[in-house]
Amino acid sequence: MDGHAIGLSSAVSAMEESFVLDQQAAAVLAAEAEETGRAVRNVELELRGQALVADVLLRQAETTGEATRILRTLEYRAAEHQLIMLQARVHRLLSRVAANMGDYADQLDHALRGLQLLPAHASPRIRIMHLMALAEALFRTRSTESAVRRYQEAEQVALAAGDTLFCSYVVNDMAYCLYAAGQAQRAESAMIRLLALLESEGSQPLPAMLDTLARIQLAQRHTEDAIQTAKRLVACNQSDTDYPEGPAEAALTMAAAYHQAGALTDAQTALDRARELSAGPELARVQANVLREQAELHATSGDFPAAFAAYKAYHEASEQLSSREREAQARIRHAAFETAEARRDAENFREQSLRDALTGLRNRRHVDAQLPALLTTATAAQPLAVAIVDVDHFKRINDTWSHEIGDQVLIAIAGLLGPAVPAEGVGVGGFTARLGGEEFLVVIAGLAEADVLDRLEKLRLAVECYPWQLLTGDLPVTVSIGVAGGWHPARSTDVLGDADRNLYAAKRSGRNRLCGQLTRTTVRSTTD
Ligand code: GH3
Ligand code: MG
Ligand code: MG
Repeated sequence: MDGHAIGLSSAVSAMEESFVLDQQAAAVLAAEAEETGRAVRNVELELRGQALVADVLLRQAETTGEATRILRTLEYRAAEHQLIMLQARVHRLLSRVAANMGDYADQLDHALRGLQLLPAHASPRIRIMHLMALAEALFRTRSTESAVRRYQEAEQVALAAGDTLFCSYVVNDMAYCLYAAGQAQRAESAMIRLLALLESEGSQPLPAMLDTLARIQLAQRHTEDAIQTAKRLVACNQSDTDYPEGPAEAALTMAAAYHQAGALTDAQTALDRARELSAGPELARVQANVLREQAELHATSGDFPAAFAAYKAYHEASEQLSSREREAQARIRHAAFETAEARRDAENFREQSLRDALTGLRNRRHVDAQLPALLTTATAAQPLAVAIVDVDHFKRINDTWSHEIGDQVLIAIAGLLGPAVPAEGVGVGGFTARLGGEEFLVVIAGLAEADVLDRLEKLRLAVECYPWQLLTGDLPVTVSIGVAGGWHPARSTDVLGDADRNLYAAKRSGRNRLCGQLTRTTVRSTTD
């Protein structure tokens, strides 16, 4: 790898190991990694760049469809190039796609596959991210205890690595999971453990952590504590691209805390602030929650008509929200469908590029790609048989009849080659191909020499005995066959060369015959 690629690779690693992304910087780096990776033929760097693009896109619900398209292709290409770490990452990102779509079973499936694929040498941070993704999916599918176990495992990994930041993310999420499952007391003790840890390190909790804590305290009816926490939260007042709803959520939590304390005027002021801060379509979820809080606040004040109106508005907002979510889901599904189609096209195209258009047999490119691997599985005791089959005096057929008739002859011969190849089995198999012109190849793996020669002799006879009269009248059609055997470390060009020499011997000794053997000592003809 060149220096530039190494630098890019470690910059990408740093972003892969971070929950918080500077989205603009990430997009720039991702594009550069993808481009450089392609230029220096570093597929891994190229694909990791693409995964980073998908990661950035996934952070906004509207671009989930675009991210899905990239991830579906990546899933396939990462597997093709056996990039296990990337495969694991792609599944984790796909679990986020599923979460954005509200398909929690699919979220769980991808999260699980991601963790299973993760190799032992993955860094603690990557492992923690995978454990957390799985825990979140378990939480969404209402398996609270299983989720908590994954969080605890992640916490252990973070503690062992001395990683306070990641430990705080883990404990925050675990506390939220417990709180949402109605276990506020366990949630609170987790949060207390977290705050103690942060304090011992002299670091500040993140706004999201304070929000979780305030909500837990409200659930426990530790109202005074909740007000203090909410005040701290509002004071943070930082807007974060990864947590755009932060300030509005903070004001909403503040309102809920004042409401519980009976300070209804303060609660209304905080709620008005939350409404202001949650303008904009991307914060629709918070807007709906503001309406619900408003309905409850009106009810507490005894203004039931206003409470009813607010509740109705909340209900409509929620309905709209879920229809918008359904539309988004439909868009994502469409994207997934399109990529599946595109992949099938690519596979068809790849398949076609390895076939000969006239006969439908494999072509020279397929031969060049397959022979080396087949030679490595062959041995001196079990050589790979490579036979070149060449039509005798083919030029005469073209000249006497026509090029079209010549083509028909080639197609018919292609159809006669198949039976020479044994059915695919353990260590047994092979293929047929058209090398070009009127030259074909039969490759046979895993059979004894006598069996191979017998099959080729039958092939020669089958051509000779074919009812050619319909095509060529009185002109006979026969083939000469040169066969050779090869095994590792012989190169495919050497073995093809041996077969070609044996073919030449067959032509020289009268045509319509088979020459050669699998152990290369002498050239001999079976019909001499
Ligand atoms: P030999 O027995 O020595 O092999 O004689 P031959 O006539 O078969 O060999 P030669 O190499 O002299 O001629 C091969 C001919 O095959 C020449 C070329 O025009 C013809 N040919 C090559 N490709 C095609 C094709 O796709 N279709 C047809 N109809 N003819 C082709
Ligand atoms: Mg010929
Ligand atoms: Mg020829």
